[in-house]
Amino acid sequence: MEMIKDLPKLFDHVEAPGNGAYNNGFAGQDVISVDQFDRTRLSYIFHRSREMIEMVEQRGACDLLKGRVLACLFYEPSTRTSASFIAAMERLGGSVIPITQGVQFSSVSKGESLPDTIRTLEQYADVIVLRHPEVGAAQIAADAASVPVINAGDGTGEHPTQGLLDLFTIRQELGTIDKLKVAMVGDLRYGRTVHSLTRLLMQYDVSYRFVSPELLRLPMALMNVLIDRKMKVRETHDVADVIENADVLYVTRVQKERFSDPAQYEEVKDCYKITPEIMQRAKPTMALMHPLPRVGEIDTAVDSDPRAAYFRQVKNGMYVRMALLAAVLGRA
Ligand code: ASP
Repeated sequence: MEMIKDLPKLFDHVEAPGNGAYNNGFAGQDVISVDQFDRTRLSYIFHRSREMIEMVEQRGACDLLKGRVLACLFYEPSTRTSASFIAAMERLGGSVIPITQGVQFSSVSKGESLPDTIRTLEQYADVIVLRHPEVGAAQIAADAASVPVINAGDGTGEHPTQGLLDLFTIRQELGTIDKLKVAMVGDLRYGRTVHSLTRLLMQYDVSYRFVSPELLRLPMALMNVLIDRKMKVRETHDVADVIENADVLYVTRVQKERFSDPAQYEEVKDCYKITPEIMQRAKPTMALMHPLPRVGEIDTAVDSDPRAAYFRQVKNGMYVRMALLAAVLGRA
């Protein structure tokens, strides 16, 4: 994984927009990497996410972002991230320009550069959500934009909003994050959600268990960060080594689209499958998570197990994105 260097910290100093918006410290800021979030900021987002849950359960929608427009620009496929950003904006009373059905229908297919596309969209929109196949693309877009840019996945780099919703889900499922044993399973090399969640968890007193075939081990650069931070880390190839003690089992898809050699993908594609038999050995309180889509790593027979948290995780994504959109648009 390439590291994103010298990120501006969110919240260093922020001027409130001159439209009466509340300056919550996030206003006008980009969300490029999870490294921009410390524990205070995480608490703020989680607190706001819980308020969003209450609001949606009681009223369905509100007017907080009325008159605000989100541009959703996706250069890679997406179901949950795009739909949840659209739902989030609409439940807050805002509206969306969705360029999510493939940029082949936009001027990108005519050869328009990313900065030009961004500078065009910001003429219409107050915030831009971007998914792009290249590591660092979100930062390039943020440099070109004068409105906030939210990274919805940049290649094998990061997926900060997924990391935030994953962390929020752990907190909601288990009531705490400190002291947990978190096992990550599958494609730890190319899985950007693993990279973001791993970095976020460094702020807590957790133990990591990384389970993958040799080829899909966590990138060395990220492992070195964990080692420098003196985090408790263990690696193994076998789910059996972690299943009895894990508080969270975070399972991931082997990222077919990132392999240059199809033979290598074939070699590792079916490396893990969580079944009801495996779940029998897990703690009764364990949370089984997956960023989705799954392509066989979790047997559908597990879905009725109350520990299967992945669809609750999907819903949490909408609440966390509501909190983030309100925050960067300066609405409390
Ligand atoms: N939806 C997640 C992502 O965009 C996970 C995946 O695709 O496997 O990274």
